[in-house]
Amino acid sequence: MSELKKHPYPQLNFEARPRHLGSIRGRLGQFVGGHFSSVNLSPLLFSHRLDDTEHVKLEVWSAPGRTKPTFDEAKRQKYRPAKKGEAFGPSWTNHWFKVALHIPKDWEGYERVQLEFDCSGEAMVYTTDGDPIHGLTGGWGTERRVEFIIPPTARKAGVAHYFIEASSNEMFGQNGMDPPDQNRYYWLNSCDLVVPNMEAWRLMWDFDHLHQLVDNLPDDCPMHMKAQWTANEIMNVFQTGDMESVKAARKTAEAILGEAWEDKVQKESESAEKQKGTLWGIGHCHIDTAWLWPFSVTQQKSARSWSTQCDLMDRYPEHRFSATQAQQFKWVEQLYPSLFARIKEKISEGTFQPVGATWVEMDCNMPSGEALVRQFLYGQKYYQSRFGITCKTFVLPDTFGYSSQLPQIARLAGCQNFFTQKLSWNNTNTFPNSTFNWVGLDSSQILTHMTPVDNYNSQCNLDDIRRAVTNHKNTEVTSQALLLFGNGDGGGGPTPPMLEKLRRIRATTKQHDVGGMLPPLKMGGSFEQFFDSVREETINGGKLPNWRGELYAEFHRGTYTSHGSIKKGNRKSEILMREAEFAATAASLADPSYKYPKDKIDSAWEDLLLCQFHDVLPGSGIAMIYEDAEEKYAGIQKYIRAVLEEAYSALYKNSHPLDAATKVPSNSRVFAINTLHNYPRQEVVTVPLTGAAGLRGSCAQVSGDGQKGYMLMDASDETVIGQPKGLYADVARVTVAESEPGVFVMTNESLVMKIEDGRIASIYDKAADKELLAHGQTAGMVIMEDNPNFWDAWDVDQFHLEKQTHLKFGNVRVLEGGPVRATIGASLRVGQSSMEVEISLDAVPASLKKDARSMIRFSAVVDWREKHKFLKFELPVDIQSDTATYDTQFGVVSRPTHRNTSWDAAKFEVCGHKFADYSEYGYGVAILNDCKYGYATEGNVMRLSLLRAPTQPDPETDMGSHAFSWAVYPHLGTFAESDVPQVSYAFNTPLHLRYTSSKTNELTASPLALSPPFRAPGTHNVFVETIKRGEDDADTGKTTVVLRAFEQFGGHAKTTLKIYDLDVTKASLVNLLEEEIEPLELLEVPDDRTGISGGGEETKAYGVKLSFRGFEVKTIKLTLASAKSKRSSGSDGWVKV
Ligand SMILES: [Zn+2]
Repeated sequence: MSELKKHPYPQLNFEARPRHLGSIRGRLGQFVGGHFSSVNLSPLLFSHRLDDTEHVKLEVWSAPGRTKPTFDEAKRQKYRPAKKGEAFGPSWTNHWFKVALHIPKDWEGYERVQLEFDCSGEAMVYTTDGDPIHGLTGGWGTERRVEFIIPPTARKAGVAHYFIEASSNEMFGQNGMDPPDQNRYYWLNSCDLVVPNMEAWRLMWDFDHLHQLVDNLPDDCPMHMKAQWTANEIMNVFQTGDMESVKAARKTAEAILGEAWEDKVQKESESAEKQKGTLWGIGHCHIDTAWLWPFSVTQQKSARSWSTQCDLMDRYPEHRFSATQAQQFKWVEQLYPSLFARIKEKISEGTFQPVGATWVEMDCNMPSGEALVRQFLYGQKYYQSRFGITCKTFVLPDTFGYSSQLPQIARLAGCQNFFTQKLSWNNTNTFPNSTFNWVGLDSSQILTHMTPVDNYNSQCNLDDIRRAVTNHKNTEVTSQALLLFGNGDGGGGPTPPMLEKLRRIRATTKQHDVGGMLPPLKMGGSFEQFFDSVREETINGGKLPNWRGELYAEFHRGTYTSHGSIKKGNRKSEILMREAEFAATAASLADPSYKYPKDKIDSAWEDLLLCQFHDVLPGSGIAMIYEDAEEKYAGIQKYIRAVLEEAYSALYKNSHPLDAATKVPSNSRVFAINTLHNYPRQEVVTVPLTGAAGLRGSCAQVSGDGQKGYMLMDASDETVIGQPKGLYADVARVTVAESEPGVFVMTNESLVMKIEDGRIASIYDKAADKELLAHGQTAGMVIMEDNPNFWDAWDVDQFHLEKQTHLKFGNVRVLEGGPVRATIGASLRVGQSSMEVEISLDAVPASLKKDARSMIRFSAVVDWREKHKFLKFELPVDIQSDTATYDTQFGVVSRPTHRNTSWDAAKFEVCGHKFADYSEYGYGVAILNDCKYGYATEGNVMRLSLLRAPTQPDPETDMGSHAFSWAVYPHLGTFAESDVPQVSYAFNTPLHLRYTSSKTNELTASPLALSPPFRAPGTHNVFVETIKRGEDDADTGKTTVVLRAFEQFGGHAKTTLKIYDLDVTKASLVNLLEEEIEPLELLEVPDDRTGISGGGEETKAYGVKLSFRGFEVKTIKLTLASAKSKRSSGSDGWVKV
């Protein structure tokens, strides 16, 4: 009999039966936990719980100090009895528990038995064979995951044994965002054998789903009302402690979820990849490679998080999990091989999905162009070698701004798609698109999705799901969106309750028309399928809007400056890697006995790339990670300097490096190596005379204390070698004097600089008859109060500009009086800090370009003791332009100097690499630097950011000693007419000084070492950034050389790349992974070099024609006949020095 027939419509009605009042909604909060937890659903959630020693035997061994032993090491140790409630610590220590479980026979009938292990920190469960099988997170945060399901075999046997490594840290370190408490102890809250009542749990999830529908759908939505009615009915049906009522309550929930919905969802999940929907749910787990914890903890986090996901995939067939960062895979491969094998299996099944393409999720503001290339190269090579895949989607949800060269670099590295999220944090403007074509500096585009869900670690609550619809900005073309769900930042990833929530959402949207309020949810997909589907829907992006240029993040602007030593480590390492690869390549071609040190180079790159992680290089991590990073930078300097020295020893026989520590024989001659291939130089170099008194005679100037000399080094012809040059041939001397008390004037042929009352009062260009400084303004140091509203290490707020103090130099004095270098010394005291600056002007111009001016160089040594202060160098100039130009990866980026709109005003602090330039028609000036990244140009005032002092999360950020340099370089013409990029390269790449003490003073060297083997003559705007051996040479036995060049001013360029002294058999244009795009025609051309004392024979050169569009990056691979230069056998060249 139908319900209707059972209840005919009565004639009379005496009931009051009101419409539900608002209080019904409030009632829904009473069903689980809270004040009524003794009588509501909570007591039913567990049927049994045992922790007595008869059932749970517990022993522990604590690893000494902060050591992190392997399973095998830990297993061998002597364990002592342990019990619940014990404390263990201090912070960052590891404790191994041996757990023996005896499961009561009468528990066999229960659906599930599990171990509940809550150590209040993070933990990993191992089998007794050493397989890491499940991660656990204790404590009471949302990331809590303390249960481990006992497998059926163990339940049947009645006993189970495990090892659990418990670590003394929470998911977010020791103290959240505050500096870590290094003496924190953790408690073993539970180690219980429990039987969960799964039907009660399922009712809890059903009810939570209904409650969320009530809370997240608008009141006028029918589903809101229906869900409220149903949830209230469930509370009416439920009886305290009554399992039958739980079943009835679950039946009631089917009014929303549909009849027998679980079976349907389960069935559908088994072929999840066939599901349709617009919101693609993909599990994810953002693991910061270091942040509030060091690298070593991240290694554990990766294993914990990923083993747990493998387990979840076995239980939820619709579950797909995506992970980024090749470095983390490599750690798991090295430290957890059995887990790695399990992951590899899941990868081949398509359920575990490596994405992202890069080595780590790097900062994208500060790494050089080449470093970004290597992020992709090392990432993709790893994925190719281990999993046979090339990632098509670049995934970078959490970084603090996106360089305008990323589209080109990602495309050239095999990625067609880009996923990110972080711009939703913008604190000024709302980014206008969710799905769009991002068009980079060179016009390369990449299909980009910024999820409207607005986070990358969704808890699968309905507010997130709703945002996929309400916050999607391109629904006129596509409604598809990505839902990245799972605990993140500290790792963890998806949990069973999240997957249960998603199942209920799917059931609801299948069952009911929710009027577009909730998107149909698709599980079982991948990033690539998502983007393919968007491509199809938008006709390959043809219907989507474009965004051109950088994705500037309107927040976290302090990260260009925080932790100055890390910025310095990054820049110096990048420059050193460039020089070492070039030298080692030349040596490997010139000297058959020299072996290209690929392993050392790879390992240095991996360390450098690791330190570019988005909380390491930006300076936003705890102090511990900077100790690790400093050690890595020191290692790079040590090992790669040795690589460079070995290469130079092979290339320049009988030569030695010249440094302060060397004792130089008296008959020695000095020479310099110029590593900027297309850029002849002539500059003043400093020569240490402490152990080299014999060199005094070659110096054009000797310092007052006789400790160092100054040589004018001439590398102006086409050789690589520079030699000392006499002063008076064509160079006027530089002079300096205290013209009146407290007024110092430095003058050379092109400039006059005046310091008065501790400030730079004038920089006058003699030939142009132009005062560079704005009328009535002075240049010099400025300090600002820097108290950001939030995110101390990350943020600098606009108002810091409103509270600034101009600082004056004291103790100004002449240190060097010319003729080739004049130097003024100056001191600065501010608060508890002190600073010594040397301001120098050389006799020669900064470059060999016609009409080039000199640069004014500032070298500072600072003892920094301030807190929450921002130190900058400020240069107010008599120049007016709407834009200023900043050095970026493989090119430059223009940004406004005015503050017209909120988009312009938000760019009050920006990232630049080696220079920022401000030019108008006819004249301009650049500020160069050797290790800084923060700049601003506000109206006519240029600023270079030098030091900050945040106290969170590292309370000692930047305290102590710093040494850095910058320079002011005026030039004729606009930026595009200038040679600022070349001068900034030279500023960052000092000439390498060496000496030879052979009798004849002849330097024996391979032709490759005397003259650059690769040149792109006649082009002002093409720069050869990289010369390296091919990635696969060791495997294939081939000899290949890879060159990377780019157009650096933003215009077209045509050039013939010339190759000298090498037997080239093939030339190809390749992508960044060094895979051929197309063959290039190899031309034979005459060897047209001048000034080369080569082997004496007539040689031919090769030519490859190249054309560039503005800011284009091209990679050329040359295959050589053999691993030696044409003239290497018995025909070394020589130069007389
Ligand atoms: Zn992150």
